[in-house]
Amino acid sequence: MANILRRTKIIATLGPATDEGDMFADMMTAGVDLVRLNFSHGVAEDHAKRIQYVRETAKKYGREIGVLADLQGPKIRIAKFKKGSIELKAGDHFILDANLDEDLGDQQAVGIDYKVLPYDVSKGDILLLDDGRLVFEVNKIVDEKIHCEVAVGGKLSNNKGINRKGGGLSAKALTDKDKNDLGIALSLGADYIAISFPRDADDMHEARGLIEKANGHAGLIAKIERVEAVENLDEIILASDAVMVARGDLAVEIGEPEVPGVQKHIIHQARMMDKPTITATQMMETMIHSSTPTRAEVSDVANAVLDGTDAVMLSAESAVGDFPARVIEMMSRVCLSAEKYSRRQRITTRQYDDSPEFDGIDEAIAMATMFTANHMNIKAILALTESGATPHWMSRIRSGIPVYALSRNVLTQRKVTLYRGVYAIDFDVTKFTRDELNAKAVAAMQHHGIVDDGDLVILTKGDISGVHGGTNVMKILKVGGNLF
Ligand code: PGA
Ligand code: MN
Repeated sequence: MANILRRTKIIATLGPATDEGDMFADMMTAGVDLVRLNFSHGVAEDHAKRIQYVRETAKKYGREIGVLADLQGPKIRIAKFKKGSIELKAGDHFILDANLDEDLGDQQAVGIDYKVLPYDVSKGDILLLDDGRLVFEVNKIVDEKIHCEVAVGGKLSNNKGINRKGGGLSAKALTDKDKNDLGIALSLGADYIAISFPRDADDMHEARGLIEKANGHAGLIAKIERVEAVENLDEIILASDAVMVARGDLAVEIGEPEVPGVQKHIIHQARMMDKPTITATQMMETMIHSSTPTRAEVSDVANAVLDGTDAVMLSAESAVGDFPARVIEMMSRVCLSAEKYSRRQRITTRQYDDSPEFDGIDEAIAMATMFTANHMNIKAILALTESGATPHWMSRIRSGIPVYALSRNVLTQRKVTLYRGVYAIDFDVTKFTRDELNAKAVAAMQHHGIVDDGDLVILTKGDISGVHGGTNVMKILKVGGNLF
């Protein structure tokens, strides 16, 4: 295991580019922590094959990789053109027609997959197509036809997305396809499920209900990419296990200039509520085809780290890019550099700033550990954990000290891949007696080359091993010393 540990986690979207040859092994070497399966593309077999390959390769590396299944959500799209695409100029009149057949689009009109769109929009609305590259203004709505005037033209091709500026479309977050895909993702063993375009906590509760009904263990991630989601941010965070700043659609809905500020707001609110965050989309966009990022992209990644994000995400850069492994390596270097400064920077956390009562004993132990570790020369924190709850609490506190989640539970080992500054170690507490546990845990760390004789570590565990939520002990131990 490397000596300088990157605290910020890297998520890479899988796609055709990562399927090639040994690419995924190279991505592991470069330091990928989680992979994202994008359910907007591909069929169940594609995702199944990729998960299997990821698990096999990770095994060879002796590491666990988290798998995030990202559901498509109610992305509203135009249907198809007879000729595949058309060219529109400013001033042209164009019709979005809910009654037009799927593949009969032409220079005058095209179908839409979201049939109630004509009821959701009104005269004067601005519609953004293809991530805002084309801009339409709604002139009038006649029956199921939305008559538009083109404000910004360009090429418009099959199945491009439609957003309304300012949000307000009524579509529910979970479509029938999403519900089906959620079942597939759970059966494939996804560790996290990301819900696209949630409007409020109810959308998240619905998804949670489906996961529970299927006895799934996956964590639930809300993608903040709609105006309503920003308005209902706190309740959505509360209903989720983590949130993603999904800057692609978010930018189209709220306007590009609002995004950096809203990103900081989302990360701050999530930290105040002890939930991990992912910062996503166009982080190193030029590296889809270029071997180096722009300085602006480097700054963007570094700023997300300084904002306190748990993870940064790659989309097309890895899925269809020319340099999937190299972009991870670059991102990793940028994160490491930014982290040198983030240790000195104040990132607000609920426990230090609001001093609330702790929710339970494990949280109290985690906070005592972090407070102590941050005020002593501690080499590593060893959290003996069943569910991952203790390292989760620990990762909410700003620190430069690595937290090792020692767990026998492979699902826990995978879940903690998302948490800033937490690293999983396979360790089965049930194999040891109470008296030998501390020494065995420290020996495992020495075996991995993480600690040496004389180092101080903090170990947390439960009096009774192997049960959920049982952590009630914090011990400061000297490696090589008396470890009872
Ligand atoms: P997507 O989500 O890539 O699934 O659209 C991320 C975003 O909108 O930024
Ligand atoms: Mn999106």
